[in-house]
Amino acid sequence: MNIVLLGAPGVGKGTQAEKMIEAWGLPHISTGDILRKAVADGTPLGTQAKTYMDAGELVPDVVVIGLVKSRLEKPDATKGFILDGFPRTDGQAEALDRELASVDRSIDAAISIDVDRDIIVRRLTSRRTCRSCDKIYSLIADSPADPAVCDACGGELYQRDDDAEATVRNRLSVYDRSTAPLVDYYRSKGILHVVDGNRPVDEVFADVRRIVEG
Ligand code: AMP
Repeated sequence: MNIVLLGAPGVGKGTQAEKMIEAWGLPHISTGDILRKAVADGTPLGTQAKTYMDAGELVPDVVVIGLVKSRLEKPDATKGFILDGFPRTDGQAEALDRELASVDRSIDAAISIDVDRDIIVRRLTSRRTCRSCDKIYSLIADSPADPAVCDACGGELYQRDDDAEATVRNRLSVYDRSTAPLVDYYRSKGILHVVDGNRPVDEVFADVRRIVEG
């Protein structure tokens, strides 16, 4: 199964992807995670991407398309994949289709997770990540005992630079402008599924399961 997860930042794509990996063992390809790792490792790609990411802007298509192409060529992605945070522009969606068509493959399902805007802003600004084990917390839904310390490993919890409120608002307007039109792109191909993400994680996942397992 080749799956694209669509939806604004903060709708829970990463959380659903984790559950999908558990259920079906598909590789999770998150361009945000790949770019954040490049930034943390201080690679030339990371240095180039950081300015855009900190401002909540999109990293240029040519950069992300190259990243995804080489990731899709790895052997584990040949049996299927979950793309999270890609494509985000028409150019990326078309490049993805071309790349897959060249090896006789295509996207099977685009799952769009919808969440109300005020909930997204609250979710993102309350998100904290552990510097040591990368576990993600919500200070609203599953707050750790100490908001600065990871319950799992004792590591330091931090807020992603791009989860500050002003940047969150910019990421949402970038989404509306560049990425939201992709919903129609996949609808016109007859492979779009819309899921109500304003519900507990397991209820959302029950819908995702129905879509994937048919
Ligand atoms: P995410 O974790 O998916 O919210 O991505 C964090 C940031 O990485 C975004 O705000 C962009 O700056 C950058 N990014 C991630 N995926 C893409 C993409 N497909 N195209 C352009 N920029 C991206």
